[in-house]
Amino acid sequence: MLNNFFNPKSIAVIGASRTPGKVGYDILKNIIQYGYEGAVYPINPGVPEILGVKTYASLLDVPGRIDLAVVVIPSKNVLEIIGQCGSMKIDSAIIITAGFKESGLEGARLETDLIIKAKEAGVRFIGPNCLGMIDTHSKVNASFAAGMPAKGGIGFFSQSGALCLAVLDRALPDKIGFSKFISMGNKADISDTDIMLALAEDEHTKVILGYIEGVGDGRKFMDVATQVSKKKPVIILKSGITSSGAKAASSHTGALAGREAAFDAAFKQSGIIRAHTINELFNYALAFANQPLPQGPNVAIITNSGGPGILAADACDKSDLKLAPPHKEIVDELRTFLPPVASFYNPVDILGDAGSDRYEKAITTVLKDDKIHGLMVLLTPTATVDVAATAIAVANIANGTDRPILTSFMGKKSIEEAARTLLSYGVPNYSYPEEAVSAMNAMYHYHVWINKPDKQYQGFPGFKEKAVPVFANAKKENRDRFTDSEVHDVLSAYGFALPKSAFARTSEEAVDAAMEIGYPVVMKIVSPQIVHKSDIGGVRVNLNSKQEVEKAFFEITTHLRNIMPAAQIYGVMIQEMVRGGKEIIMGITKDPQFGHMIMFGLGGIYVEVLKDIAFRITPLSREDAHEMIRETKTFPLLRGVRGEAEADIEAIEHSLMILSQMAVDFPQIIEADINPLLVRKRGEGVVAIDARFAIGGE
Ligand code: ADP
Ligand code: MG
Repeated sequence: MLNNFFNPKSIAVIGASRTPGKVGYDILKNIIQYGYEGAVYPINPGVPEILGVKTYASLLDVPGRIDLAVVVIPSKNVLEIIGQCGSMKIDSAIIITAGFKESGLEGARLETDLIIKAKEAGVRFIGPNCLGMIDTHSKVNASFAAGMPAKGGIGFFSQSGALCLAVLDRALPDKIGFSKFISMGNKADISDTDIMLALAEDEHTKVILGYIEGVGDGRKFMDVATQVSKKKPVIILKSGITSSGAKAASSHTGALAGREAAFDAAFKQSGIIRAHTINELFNYALAFANQPLPQGPNVAIITNSGGPGILAADACDKSDLKLAPPHKEIVDELRTFLPPVASFYNPVDILGDAGSDRYEKAITTVLKDDKIHGLMVLLTPTATVDVAATAIAVANIANGTDRPILTSFMGKKSIEEAARTLLSYGVPNYSYPEEAVSAMNAMYHYHVWINKPDKQYQGFPGFKEKAVPVFANAKKENRDRFTDSEVHDVLSAYGFALPKSAFARTSEEAVDAAMEIGYPVVMKIVSPQIVHKSDIGGVRVNLNSKQEVEKAFFEITTHLRNIMPAAQIYGVMIQEMVRGGKEIIMGITKDPQFGHMIMFGLGGIYVEVLKDIAFRITPLSREDAHEMIRETKTFPLLRGVRGEAEADIEAIEHSLMILSQMAVDFPQIIEADINPLLVRKRGEGVVAIDARFAIGGE
C-alpha cells in the first residue's frame, strides 16, 4: 500500500530551487544526500541544473516514468500541477505547499478544488501544508527536515510538522530507529487510517506512532485502529483536549477537534495506546519497539536505593501492574549473596554499595521466578557502582530472556553513556522510575488487548417498533423534548421497569392517584418549562397520607407560581415511592465525530461535581458495558461496602446495552439520560425513576 510514496523508483521535485534555505532546495538536497538510489527530476524552468542534477522546465518534459511527485510551488499553481501528474500517470504526490484550509476560507475553497482535481486526475496525495515524508529503508528523505533518522522499527505519522521536527531532533543523538516519518499536514486526501493500514502492512514497522489533533471520520478511524492494533501496537498522542487546546487545534490545521471523552472512549475501544505527552509517546515507543511484551501483570523491581524503589512501587500500585512477592526459594537464594540488611522482597534493594556483579546475580536470581512477567532495574549512581559495567550486565541478561526489562538509571551526566549502551542493546532507559512503570503498564495493557477475543455485539431487535410512534409524534409536533408520558412510553418500550405513576391536575385527583398507587408516594411537578424538577422544589418524596398529598400539592404549585409566574403548570405526577437501591445515571450523548456514546456513572445530585463517569461509543458490546462500569472510582460502592448487599451489576450492564440499542435505533436522539436509575440488590433489577430526552434532526 502507498508503495510509490515509500519506495519510489523515481521522484520529481516540482518547484526545486537552487537557493539554500528555500524549501525547494532543502527537499532536493535531502533526497540526494541520504543515499536515495532512484532517479531524481528537479523541475525548474529558470536553471539548467541544481546540486549537479539536470533540471526540466516542466513536469511534462521529463522523459522517464515518475513514481512520486513532490510539490513545492505556490498554492495557486498546485491544481495545475496535479492535472499534469494525472496526464503523466503519476499516481502519488506529496504536497508541501501551505496556504490551504489552515489559512482561512479562501484556502479552504482551494483545498476542496484540489481534492476534486486530484480525484479526477487519479492522484493520491499527502498534505497539503506538510513537511514531507521519510522512509529510512528505501532511503527516501522527501522532506525539509534537518537530518535523517536511523533505520528502525518505529513508524511515525504526525498532523503537526513541528512535532515531526521535535521528534526527529530528539531521535537523532540517541540513534533511535524509525522506519518511516510522515508529516500529514491537512490530511486532505491521505488520512490517518490510510497511513495506519500502510504501516500495519509494512514489514519494517514494528510500532505505529502518531500525533493527531482530530480525525475526519471517527467510526472509520475506530474500525481501522481496531484492526491494525491487533497486529501492531498503535500509540497516539492526541492534542486539543482542553477547550483552549481545542481552539488552538482548529486554528492550526482547521481540524474539528472531537471531545475528550469521545476520543478516550474511541481509543480504549479500538486498542490504541494513548500517550498524554511527547515524552510519554517516546517512552512508550522505545519500550514497544525494543522489548517483548510482559505476558502478565507481575513485575519485580531491583534497586540500589530505597527511595526510588518506593516511588516505583507506588507507581505500580496506581497502575494495573502487580508487585508479586518472590518465591521462598528465590528469597533464600538472594540471601546467600546479598548483605543481610538488603531487602529480599519486592522491590529487591541490593543496597548502595552494590556493584555490577551484585546487580547481575540479583537479576538472574529474580528471573528464575516464573511468575514474574517483567522486570525494572533502578540505579542511583553511587560512588561504588560501575555504571558502564552494570549497563552491559543488564543488557546481556535482557538479550537472553523473553521477558521485558526496562531500566531507570537515574541522573544525567554519570549515566548518559550507560543509557546509550543500554538502548543500543534494545533496553530503554528512563530518567525516572515512574516512567519505566508507566511504559511497562502500557505494554501490559497491550498484551491484554491482543489476547482479548473479538467483541461480540448483541442486538436487541423488537424494541424499536414500539417506540417509533412516540418519536414520530414528537417530530410531527415539532418538539425537541419528550413529555413525561412519552419518556414513559419509550422507556417501557425498551423494557425498563418504571415506578407506577399517574398524572393529576388537581389535589383531589392527586389523592385518588395516591390511593390507587398505594402509600408512600412521590409527587413531582409537571410543567413544560421545568427540566430539573427538584432544583425548584418540585419533587416531594415519602408522602404517607391524604393530608400530606394535599399539602404537598398546594405547596409545590404555589411555590412554582411564586418563583416563575410565567410557567405553565399542567399538574403533578404521583409516583410509587421506590425504596432501597442505589442511584446511578446512564445516558446517551452525541459526539460530532464518533456519533452516539453511552455514559455511565454513580448518580444522585453530586454527579456533575464528581464527574465520576465513563463513556463508550455505540454499539456497546457486553464487554464494553462490563468495563465501563468498573472504570468508575465509585464502582466498589456497587459491590457493596461494610456488609451492604451487592447491587445488580448485571442488570446495569444489560441496561447499558439496551440504551446502546436505542441509540442505534434512533439516530435522532441528541441526548438522553436516566437519572436516577435505581439499582436494587443482585437479581432484583433496576427501576428508571426519572429521564429526559432531547431529539432533533432526522
Ligand atoms: P429531577 O431530576 O427533575 O430533579 P427526579 O424525578 O429525578 O427529578 O427526582 C429527584 C430525586 O428524588 C431523585 O433523584 C430521587 O432521589 C428521588 N425520587 C424521585 N422519584 C422517586 C421515586 N419514585 N422513588 C424514590 N425516589 C424518588
Ligand atoms: Mg432526575
